[in-house]
Amino acid sequence: MRIGLFGGTFNPIHRGHLYAASEVIKRFHLDQIFLIPAALPPHKTPGLVARAEDRLKMINLAIADISGLTVSDVELNRPGPSYTIDTIRHFKSTLANDAGIYLIMGLDAFLEIHTWKSHQDLLEEIAFIVMARPDDDYADAQQGWRILEVYLKSTLSSDSQFDAELACYRLEGKQPVYICDIKALDISSTKIRELIKKKQNIENLVPPEVAGYIGLKGLYK
Ligand code: ATP
Ligand code: MG
Repeated sequence: MRIGLFGGTFNPIHRGHLYAASEVIKRFHLDQIFLIPAALPPHKTPGLVARAEDRLKMINLAIADISGLTVSDVELNRPGPSYTIDTIRHFKSTLANDAGIYLIMGLDAFLEIHTWKSHQDLLEEIAFIVMARPDDDYADAQQGWRILEVYLKSTLSSDSQFDAELACYRLEGKQPVYICDIKALDISSTKIRELIKKKQNIENLVPPEVAGYIGLKGLYK
């Protein structure tokens, strides 16, 4: 069994998340990816985040017809802010010992990993898949990967080495950090929330069922 864990605020879920997840499933031959919405996200301003049950519902609507993607509410059912270290320990305790488990995130999220609780333990306990994602800080994916390399060496582990055959970084005493060169869609939840505020169309950015739910509930107005 090969499992991916893909956490986020999903405020709301969008086509960028769905496309990225479907590419990772294919390229890493995963059986399943769990989308894991965070409770009170430690890095986000409270108040701008839709209620957990709405974010969960939108994920369920978005993935209803996509095989291989499922949702997990473990973080929503845990009191207090969600920490990824607790989540991966939960999954490791429930999955078979020989299951391959990967923590999936965009490059923007990985470049903040040093601020996450117990991040060194996290790198020890689970392999990462870092996906390319357009960002103002780098012009293209190649430049993004160069930034990643500098970040790994300067902030996480000075001995990190790139293994070109497996397209991963190897860090002493840690699990591999794979890079996944998807042609990511330039979509963010922030952009979607801004468009809704300006009463503009979000139809190309989220599945129709999600757009319908947002409209029905009057979210992000
Ligand atoms: P926000 O703008 O509110 O931060 P977001 O679009 O970044 O929202 P998150 O819920 O913060 O979405 O992201 C969850 C995870 O999905 C992160 O690891 C992020 O890097 C990744 N991700 C988000 N959008 C994309 C995208 N378009 N392509 C690839 N990965 C993405
Ligand atoms: Mg984000």
